[in-house]
Amino acid sequence: MSDFASKLASMLGAGAVLTDPVDMAKYVRSWSGSEAGKALCVVRPATTAEVSTAMAAAYAEGIAVVPQSGNTGLAGGSIPDDSGKEIVLSLERMNCIREISTSALTMTVEAGCVLAKLHETVEGQGLFFPLNFGAKGSCMIGGNLATNAGGSNVVRYGNTRELCLGIEVVLPDGRVMDLLSGLRKNNTGYDLRDLFVGSEGTLGIITAATMKLYPLPKARATALVSVESLADALSVLNRVQAESGGAVEAFEIMPNAFLRQAQRHNPNLLQPFRDLPRYGVMIEIAATSDEAATPDADGALPVAATLQRAAEAALEDGLIQDALFAASEAQRLDIWKLREAALEVTNSVKTKIGFDISLPLDRIHGFVDATQKIVDRTVTGAYLNPLGHLGDGNLHLGIWCDPDADVDAFKAKAGEMKNAVLDLLAQSGGSFSAEHGIGSHKLPEMRKYKDAVALDVMRSIKAALDPKGMMNPGRTIPAGN
Ligand SMILES: Cc1cc2nc3c(=O)[nH]c(=O)nc-3n(C[C@H](O)[C@H](O)[C@H](O)COP(=O)(O)OP(=O)(O)OC[C@H]3O[C@@H](n4cnc5c(N)ncnc54)[C@H](O)[C@@H]3O)c2cc1C
Repeated sequence: MSDFASKLASMLGAGAVLTDPVDMAKYVRSWSGSEAGKALCVVRPATTAEVSTAMAAAYAEGIAVVPQSGNTGLAGGSIPDDSGKEIVLSLERMNCIREISTSALTMTVEAGCVLAKLHETVEGQGLFFPLNFGAKGSCMIGGNLATNAGGSNVVRYGNTRELCLGIEVVLPDGRVMDLLSGLRKNNTGYDLRDLFVGSEGTLGIITAATMKLYPLPKARATALVSVESLADALSVLNRVQAESGGAVEAFEIMPNAFLRQAQRHNPNLLQPFRDLPRYGVMIEIAATSDEAATPDADGALPVAATLQRAAEAALEDGLIQDALFAASEAQRLDIWKLREAALEVTNSVKTKIGFDISLPLDRIHGFVDATQKIVDRTVTGAYLNPLGHLGDGNLHLGIWCDPDADVDAFKAKAGEMKNAVLDLLAQSGGSFSAEHGIGSHKLPEMRKYKDAVALDVMRSIKAALDPKGMMNPGRTIPAGN
C-alpha cells in the first residue's frame, strides 16, 4: 500500500480504501471493458465530511483525483489513466435519500444513488423523476449531474440540468460548498450550481443534489410508426405535440440500419414491421389527469385515443406509412426494450464510426442527406444509422461498414469521413457532443470546434477553482496551446 493510501485508510478506515488490483479492477475499466487504466488506490467515502477529508489530503499532496459514480460514462472520463498515480474517488457509498418532499415536489439525494432506485422510490410515493435512459440500473445521480445526462424524456422535461434545483459540492481543496436548496427562483449572483452541472469532475466532487419531481403519469400511450424521411418524422412530432397539448415524453428515431441489425443481433427483440421501413419512430405521450387516464364506455383510454387520432391524421396525409400501438404494458415495454438495446446493437457492428451530435431540429434532415453524400463519395458499402433522441435534435449517428464490403478501405478512409462530417456539423450550427460529454475521447474536437474564447474562459474558471490542476486532469478541457 502506498504512503498516501495508508494515510487515507488511517483517516477514513481501511474499508474505505482499496489497493488490491483485483478489488480495484471494476473501477479502473470502462463500462464496455474496452479501456482500462491503473489507480494508486480507490477511495470510497461514505459521507460529505469524508469526501472533504480525502480531497483535502489529495490536494495537500498534489495527487490527481478521478471522480466516479456509476462508471457508465461513454467519454472515458470516469477511469484513471495508465500512470498509476491518480486515485479514483467513488461515490457509490454515498447513497442516502436525504429527503423527499411530496408537497414541494423535490428530493434531496446523495451522489451515489442509482437512477433506477430513485425511480422506484419516488414512484412508490406517486411521484415521477423523469431522467431515463438505458444505463439507469447502474448510473448514479452524481454522474448524471456531472455529465448533464439527457436520455429519452428530455423532449418534455429537459436535461439533468433542468431537473436540478440545488447542489452540494466538495471543492478540490476540501471545502464544502452548500448550494442545496429547493428554491425555484434565486438570483443571488453567479449560478454556481450550473457551473458544476456538466463539468465532468474537473471542478469538484458533487456529493448531493436537490432534484425536481413531477406527478406520476396516470396513463401513457406508446406507438411505433414508420416514416419515409426525417422531415416527415419532425412533422409528426409537431402534430402529436399540438394534438396532445405538449404531452410528448419520448420521440425516438430508429432507422432501417438499426432495425435490421437488431433483428440479426437479437431475434428476441421486437420486430414491429413485416417490411423494414426507412425509419421507425417510437412516440410516447403521457397524461397525469384522471380524465385522460379513465377508459371511456368502449374501454379506450383518452390519452391513447389522442395519440391514435394524431397518428391516423398523419397516416392519411402520407406522413406515416404504418403504425403499431402498444395495447398493453407488456407491448409498451417491448417497444422500449428495442430502443434501449441501441448500444448493445450498435456494439455488435464491428466496423463503424460513431457520433453523439445535436442540431437545430429544422437542420437535421438536410445534414443527414449531406452526410450520406459524403459517405457515398468516399467509400462503397457503408451506410448511415441516424438513431436517437430526434425530439431533442440529438442523433447517435453511425456510419456502418457492411461486413461484406471492403473493410480495409473503410478503415483507411474513416478519419477523412469523420473530419468531413464534423466540419459539416460545425457549418450547420451543430454540437459534436450532445449528451455524453468530452471526457478523454473528444479533446481534439474540443480544440478544433469549441469557440476559442469560450475555451479560454473555461481554462480561467478551472485555474481559479483547481489551481493545481488535480481534478480529472487531461479530461474535458484540452491543454492550452
Ligand atoms: C447503455 C447506456 C446507455 C446510455 N444512454 C445515455 C443517454 O441516453 N443519455 C446520456 O446522456 N447518457 C447516456 N449514457 C452515458 C452515461 O450513462 C451517462 O453519461 C451517465 O450520466 C453517467 O453516469 P455515471 O454515474 O455512470 O457517471 P460516471 O461514468 O461514473 O462518470 C461520468 C463523468 O462524471 C464524472 N463524475 C462522476 N460522478 C461525479 C461526481 N459525483 N462529482 C463530480 N464528477 C463526477 C466522472 O469523473 C466522469 O467524468 C449511456 C450509457 C450506457 C452504458
